[in-house]
Amino acid sequence: MPYKFPNCTHNHLCEQTGGICPIVGCPKELVNGPCGGIRAGGKCEVIEAFDCVWVKIYDEMKKNNELDKMLQIQAPRSTNFYADLIKNRDQSS
Ligand code: SF4
Repeated sequence: MPYKFPNCTHNHLCEQTGGICPIVGCPKELVNGPCGGIRAGGKCEVIEAFDCVWVKIYDEMKKNNELDKMLQIQAPRSTNFYADLIKNRDQSS
């Protein structure tokens, strides 16, 4: 079971991505698979020293025989992540 961030505003998306949060792991915060800029060898387009989070998710889902879950399209989400985070924090206190 993946760790759930208490203030997660993304409906615990990590439950569908092998416990790996694509929002935290991807500089572009993509939730429906990798961008078109992924580098050879699976390195991130934005931060070359990092492995693309979607490669990690794919490997984890394949290991768990859950690749079918990757076909589920995630709904558009708010682009104001920090405002949502603060709003949720204030509502839960
Ligand atoms: S290469 Fe992967 S981690 Fe990097 S920005 Fe693109 S989708 Fe995100």
